[in-house]
Amino acid sequence: MWAGEADNLETRAGNKKVEAKSKAPHAKPAYGPKVTATGSALGGKTPEGLAVRTVSITSGYRVIREKFREVASRHSIARPSRRVELGSSLQRAEIFIRLTHALNKHPVFMKITFLGTAAATSYPLAFCRCKFCNTARERGGKDFRKRSSVIVNDDLLIDMGPDIMSASFLYGKSIADIRYHLQTHSHSDHFDSQVFTTRSPEYRGVNTPRLQVYASTKTLARMAEMVKNDGYVNNFLEATEQARMNLEVFPVKPFDSFKIGSYDATAFPTDHDTAVESLLWAITENDFTLFYGTDTDIIPEETWKGFHEKNLKFNVVVLDHTYGPDADSGGHLNANRFVQQIQRMKVEELLADHSRILATHLSHEGNPPHAELSEYAAKFGYEIAYDGLVI
Ligand SMILES: [Zn+2]
Ligand SMILES: [Zn+2]
Ligand SMILES: [Zn+2]
Repeated sequence: MWAGEADNLETRAGNKKVEAKSKAPHAKPAYGPKVTATGSALGGKTPEGLAVRTVSITSGYRVIREKFREVASRHSIARPSRRVELGSSLQRAEIFIRLTHALNKHPVFMKITFLGTAAATSYPLAFCRCKFCNTARERGGKDFRKRSSVIVNDDLLIDMGPDIMSASFLYGKSIADIRYHLQTHSHSDHFDSQVFTTRSPEYRGVNTPRLQVYASTKTLARMAEMVKNDGYVNNFLEATEQARMNLEVFPVKPFDSFKIGSYDATAFPTDHDTAVESLLWAITENDFTLFYGTDTDIIPEETWKGFHEKNLKFNVVVLDHTYGPDADSGGHLNANRFVQQIQRMKVEELLADHSRILATHLSHEGNPPHAELSEYAAKFGYEIAYDGLVI
């Protein structure tokens, strides 16, 4: 399957050297699939073609190495390892090179799609003619920000926010494929009860997977009220309603770690709104960990402690950046405190090699338009996310 998926095989194995350096599909593969296959041919002939002595596969990721081993064993290569002694055919070298291309074309890493990157107020703000909002209206593109939400791969949604439908149309991410719904908290810029309500059978939705819903007990209780107010659903925390809506609800406590499909998830507390027990999420798949940290102000000490106790190293950090440099209305991070948080992550070795740090949940308060804010962020080693960004 892997070999069959490869295309554009550029490599021609001569009697000297077989080499394929595959390019990752993303514009900025800072952590991306870096797979290199090299090999050398002996120059002699075997019944199958040119003899190839070695093919070595380089990748820092266990999951890639495992994939190679799996393919190697399928092709009866005796001692499949990171460095594979082929000792036989060119075909086998080609299998590995094709596999390299296939892995890079279909990364086995987590793919994160930003459906929205604005604070509750959207960006630009509806009724505002400040210079930032005016510039955003003129420029459009990355300066139009919808309310924050992300999809991990194709099946995990963090925050069923009020803009997810329009975002799903724009960025080609089907909400129908979502199996796992993680909610940070119940604020209305993160949870749209009307989208959720359409799971009730009165809306005649068919053929979608059972939805697993994860949130804190207090956020679930608030979500249940909001959904009830829309009519159609009585109380989705009750088993009968869950069955009717083809979903399953999992109340989560801070520091709970559990398996969700192919992911390991951990919930962390934040003081953003203790009345609804706001949570921040760490999601790990294979060796790769995303920390999704909005909404939050300064990360609480117990959460820092939790990061260490759970032995986490983040490959991608997505963090609240509601207010720009020196701007502040409280309850969220501003640029200054954002920088403090990421510096602390560095100092405490919570960041994996080549990690990426992205700001989200941006408001017009002190945050200039994308280009200018990106320049500022680059000085401090982070990036500004934008709607439709895929990493
Ligand atoms: Zn928010
Ligand atoms: Zn404004
Ligand atoms: Zn909030």
